[in-house]
Amino acid sequence: MRSIAEALASMLPAFSPLGEEEVHLSASAGRYLSRDVLARFDAPPFDNSAMDGYAVRTADVAGAGPDAVVRLPVLGESRAGGPLPSELNPGTACRIFTGAFLPTGADTVVMQEDAERVGDEVLMRTAAPRGAHIRAQGSDLKSGSVLVRAGDRLWPGEIGLLASQNIGQVHVFRRPEVALLSTGDELRELGEDLPPGTIINSNAYALSEMLRDLGAIPLVLPAVADTLPEIEAALRRALEADVVITLGGVSVGAYDFVQEAFANVGIEPGFWKVRMKPGKPLVFAQYEGKPVIGVPGNPISAMVTFEVLIAPCLRAMLGDRRPHPEPVVARLRESYHRRPGRVEIARAVATREGGELTVTLHKRQGSGSLTSFVGVNALVILPADRADLAAGELVEAILWGPGLRAERSCFEAIG
Ligand code: AMP
Ligand code: MG
Repeated sequence: MRSIAEALASMLPAFSPLGEEEVHLSASAGRYLSRDVLARFDAPPFDNSAMDGYAVRTADVAGAGPDAVVRLPVLGESRAGGPLPSELNPGTACRIFTGAFLPTGADTVVMQEDAERVGDEVLMRTAAPRGAHIRAQGSDLKSGSVLVRAGDRLWPGEIGLLASQNIGQVHVFRRPEVALLSTGDELRELGEDLPPGTIINSNAYALSEMLRDLGAIPLVLPAVADTLPEIEAALRRALEADVVITLGGVSVGAYDFVQEAFANVGIEPGFWKVRMKPGKPLVFAQYEGKPVIGVPGNPISAMVTFEVLIAPCLRAMLGDRRPHPEPVVARLRESYHRRPGRVEIARAVATREGGELTVTLHKRQGSGSLTSFVGVNALVILPADRADLAAGELVEAILWGPGLRAERSCFEAIG
């Protein structure tokens, strides 16, 4: 049986990025760049004022002091979007506002709080160092430098930067379409009657949201009964997608036909079973290089294996340079006793206490409890060889779902 790391190492090569497409910046959020994007021009694109005040030549105010007032005639104005049409003549000042083009000839800005305006003149009582209150052209960014790298995800900050560079189209990796095929005689769709013995196909809803969250495109197929012909027919349809995930029917029960159906359709087995809890009976297979994953149907197992094994693979396919989760270190609030042997991924609620994270494991760690995922914001990784974990021990956790949230403003104590 493979460890989680070994399973990931076997799976990842099947998840190469799919190639690129060009999208408009306004449709690029959450996508991964397929090419480095370079600055088209300097930022700021021109020397401009960081203050409201007066643009002058340093030499003209060099003699100013408390007892030596320098008077300069104010000739013209430069405001954001309305530059002074001419050069600044020696011995004159130009009224200037934040963001405005620094007139040619001016080399410093005196903030208006340090100047006194009297009619058509401005009076200065302090000298001004060269370059004061000026945002120099290219001081933030030089033309040609890398703005965002291939394999980076586009968030609002990156999108704002690209927009500021007049970049309207970006090359991003194509989003994989992922077929979700639920199997089980007991499954019914939302809104249907539930005769005794039937349940709602809730996995289809949970996992399609997990897919959307990553940036993949879910293709939810109608659930199929536990018969080989039905599963095989649905698999053929599912194989039109870039990745296939089946749900249920991968254990050793008399009605677990998924692996047999894989074989009948020509899907080649990779491995079965991972040394993890929950989620042990996961199957990985390939059809002409296309990844096909058989996930256990239990909703907890399905969500945990998705997060631990499938999400990193899909992130790699989406073009992420760093597809693996970065676990945080947290302190276990209560002791926990378990059977050692497999890595256990436990649902927990993480809170910040003092300077560190504390995790409280959900009371029901059995894989039968659907309520045990509600409000969960951390998946705690419990090492395979540990049976007894003491309260206060440090553990690793993957922050998940809603993340960390507080009831009070974090600024209250800061002021
Ligand atoms: P299986 O992996 O098919 O043995 O299913 C394990 C458990 O998960 C059973 O109790 C199933 O009823 C349940 N289950 C299977 N598929 C789904 C699904 N799509 N949604 C919700 N529960 C499911
Ligand atoms: Mg089943």
